[in-house]
Amino acid sequence: MTGNEPFYIDEAFKSNWIAPVGPNIDAFEKEIADYVGAKGAVAVSSGTAAIHLALSILNVQKGDRVFCSSLTFVATANPILYQGAEPVFIDSEPDTWNMSPKALEAALVQAVKDNKLPKAVIVVHLYGQSAKMVEISALCDEYGVPLIEDAAESLGSTYKSKHTGTIGDLGLYSFNGNKIITTSGGGMLVSDDMEALRRAKFLATQARDQAVHYQHSTLGFNYRMSNLLAGVGRAQLQAIEHRVAARRRLFKRYEQMLSWLPGIRFMPEYNGTKSNRWLTTFTINPNISTVTNKDIIENLSLRSIEARPVWKPLHLQPLFKGCQYFTHEPFNSVSEKLFVTGVCLPSGSSLSDLEQNRVIDLIQETFEKATNKEGIV
Ligand SMILES: *Cc1c(COP(=O)(O)O)cnc(C)c1O
Repeated sequence: MTGNEPFYIDEAFKSNWIAPVGPNIDAFEKEIADYVGAKGAVAVSSGTAAIHLALSILNVQKGDRVFCSSLTFVATANPILYQGAEPVFIDSEPDTWNMSPKALEAALVQAVKDNKLPKAVIVVHLYGQSAKMVEISALCDEYGVPLIEDAAESLGSTYKSKHTGTIGDLGLYSFNGNKIITTSGGGMLVSDDMEALRRAKFLATQARDQAVHYQHSTLGFNYRMSNLLAGVGRAQLQAIEHRVAARRRLFKRYEQMLSWLPGIRFMPEYNGTKSNRWLTTFTINPNISTVTNKDIIENLSLRSIEARPVWKPLHLQPLFKGCQYFTHEPFNSVSEKLFVTGVCLPSGSSLSDLEQNRVIDLIQETFEKATNKEGIV
């Protein structure tokens, strides 16, 4: 927390707006839209809800296809299943770890052959790094497919000086407790298409028709953000630049002190992009080092420090068994390699240098232990 949150919560109490409507919500929407440079925004109860609304307003229905990045958190694709639609997973490419334009093109070519173009493409900006949006937008335009940006992890990141989430047709952010700013739980849908946002707001408030007697002709949801939590979000947003700077500094320190270790390669920052470095992540090349990502995660865990592997690609998840998957190149699944070799390090905006040094020392120790063992053998 920043310390300013109670001011906005107090305001909500004093004005008695304890509801999913109120001045904090209106202000938070406007402040996010202004910050990222979108025409409008709709505050909702989670990032997942924002994705579900995006698919709903694009009229994704039972049996439709939706293309989706494979290397991501399950929440990106769950709303495709909510709609009864079929996810088709697209591999990553090495420069950004995000959606491979080559794999996307192969999937679109196949979809034309099948006479079944997707109703939407969902591209993810993983760990704060933007995807190759020029290439991906060009393909979506060429095939006439709407583009949704899952910027849940990348608030504050830019691509050619535009904020992630504002390049495609619809974008969304998450304010879950683990994200760079939080409302405990919450999300925001953004767009330049005000009609789409009006429709999203309508669906998010139980799709109530214009009538005093509560008439409904469309299936809606109860997805709006609380006015109390929007107050938390307003104070949090004031700290965004500070947090991006803090996380970029953490990344830099990790990189400076660890990149000399054999086989370690930090997540790149692609030309023309600025990452919020939501999480610091790296891979270890198994052809160069005998230390694995599991060794590092285990050694940290022995000292009660949590590190994690990179997201398990969705095409490998039992939930999505049987779904189509398009690789970056024939016989080259980039997302699987990132999963098997990647590590996410502690990256909280408030992590102290001392705490970070402990993590760094333990990683170096993991490598030393491995070298000693090899020496004995
Ligand atoms: C966190 C996250 C979401 C979901 O956001 P919630 O607010 O937790 O529903 C979606 N996509 C990605 C990539 C995320 O990291």
